[in-house]
Amino acid sequence: MEYCELSLKQIIDLLQNKQVTANELVTYYIRRIKNFKDKNCVLEIFNDALEIANEKDEYAKTHENLPILHGVPILLKDNICYENHRLTCASKFMENFVSPYSATVTQKLLENGAIIIGRTNMDEFAMGGSTENSAYGVAKNALDDTKVSGGSSGGSASAMALGLAAITLGSDTGGSIRQPASFNGVVGLKPTYGRVSRYGLVAFASSLDQIGPIAKTSEDAAILMNIIAGHDNNDQTSSLESVPNYTANIDKDINGKTFGVPSQILKLIKTTKYEDKYQKLFKFLTSHGATIKEVEIPDYELSLPIYYILAPAEATSNLGRFDGIKYTKRSEDAYKIDEIYNFSRTKFFGDEVKRRIMLGNFVLSSGYYDAYYAKAKRLKEMLKSEVIEAFKLCDALLLPTTFGEAFKIGEKSTDPVSMYAEDMFTIFANLTEIPSISVPFEKGENGLPLGLQIAGKHFDEKSIIGFADFIEKNYWEAK
Ligand code: GLN
Repeated sequence: MEYCELSLKQIIDLLQNKQVTANELVTYYIRRIKNFKDKNCVLEIFNDALEIANEKDEYAKTHENLPILHGVPILLKDNICYENHRLTCASKFMENFVSPYSATVTQKLLENGAIIIGRTNMDEFAMGGSTENSAYGVAKNALDDTKVSGGSSGGSASAMALGLAAITLGSDTGGSIRQPASFNGVVGLKPTYGRVSRYGLVAFASSLDQIGPIAKTSEDAAILMNIIAGHDNNDQTSSLESVPNYTANIDKDINGKTFGVPSQILKLIKTTKYEDKYQKLFKFLTSHGATIKEVEIPDYELSLPIYYILAPAEATSNLGRFDGIKYTKRSEDAYKIDEIYNFSRTKFFGDEVKRRIMLGNFVLSSGYYDAYYAKAKRLKEMLKSEVIEAFKLCDALLLPTTFGEAFKIGEKSTDPVSMYAEDMFTIFANLTEIPSISVPFEKGENGLPLGLQIAGKHFDEKSIIGFADFIEKNYWEAK
């Protein structure tokens, strides 16, 4: 059977009904990962995966009521810790690092029976939008070898689209789950800040980072959210808000719902070649009883500059621990303490990481702190209140996930600003801490997928998963 064509839900059903063994599944996915080696979306297949699968199968022989993910093969982004397994954040600096503990999400997956089969490629330390910043080479788009897979969770998204695991996890600081999901034609959910524990996620910008699922379907994302969401004593920023059943809105209609579209986005859509596609979608939604409403988020355009001040500032501070002494590699030329820092960082950090460290230090330096960092912090709060206001008028916001289809490998890698501009539509959800999902809704001029972004009220993942599920199940057929 071609397991790559099945959803997580279907794979769970097969395993629970003992119609497939964990060994068969893990063997299948490992073979497939090897077949798609050239895509470079999986950095390592963990060599204990098959042995664990065999243990799961032994257990299943004598037990009924298996845990929900019993035997389900999963890939993790290379910045999520899995005890006693390598983790590099796609950096040369971390080449030999082995996680001493598991992230809370990893622990939850394991407790629910999952098998972690490997780690996926990404931009170094999650900085980037194409995986071209990986020290281990670009992860190619699942559908076109000449195109990027997006980033920074490009490896996870491309692997998901290629069917290299039942589901994958990514992390999203400014769009890193949603943009690659859009480029590869899969579903990606960035949860509300604080909804999923960040314990054991290597920090990029701690006030913005969130772990979330990259899945074949919205329902699969909901199934995974039911497992990974919730409070964690190990993460001070994790929320005490109760966790709903995320699959509750699957197969619901959208009658009576209001979708807000920020006025700037409505204007922008009119100037793009995809205007007719958005108009068609809006018409479809209204024909099913929903209302499309123009809403105001006056400072929406400030998202990009706010992010590119706050994220590098936090990254600078978080990366301070990578010093050539504790977890990382050390330059062999270094002798004195300052040489250890300087030479190791110079040698093993990639260019984009260095650029962010410089940017971050600049905006935090005395004389510039108030003008940049403190101001950006204030504006972040302002943007958040504007979004809360907008949600008084609608149930969810609709936006494009990206400007268009996946771009060519090399097209933007020498122009950091055009790469940063890629995040134009996704960043505002991180800054305002709201959940947001990307679901494929159209194809672009080259036949590659376009994602629609549906952003929800704080902690209302359930609704946006339901809306995405509706579009996924009804829109394609209607076209
Ligand atoms: N592309 C954005 C950046 O480079 C977002 C990355 C992310 O979400 N990790 O910072």
